[in-house]
Amino acid sequence: MKPQEFEKYIWRDRGCYHCGRPYDLVPHHRANRGMGGAKSADDPTNIIAMCAEINGLMESDPEMAELARAYGWKLSRYDRTDIAPVYDASTGFWFRLLDNYTRIAI
Ligand SMILES: [Zn+2]
Repeated sequence: MKPQEFEKYIWRDRGCYHCGRPYDLVPHHRANRGMGGAKSADDPTNIIAMCAEINGLMESDPEMAELARAYGWKLSRYDRTDIAPVYDASTGFWFRLLDNYTRIAI
């Protein structure tokens, strides 16, 4: 992903969905899209900004992976990323992500 595109996600998300830190962020794919899926892996609703530390823990730590599934950070490849809400644990708000790089609190 180009830096100028990731800027759109940082602007939308403001910080990591786990800890809220506004730096050291990386793009995280909520659902791993396979070939031939109806929706692209690069759809704005499939990508969230997470800090690099938590992004790694979601893959390596089963407890963090479970939390990530409960909070909509990790989805199955068949989930609708434009419908499945995402929880911002640092602020206590749930959001729906929109295709135009914005989000709405729900
Ligand atoms: Zn974090």
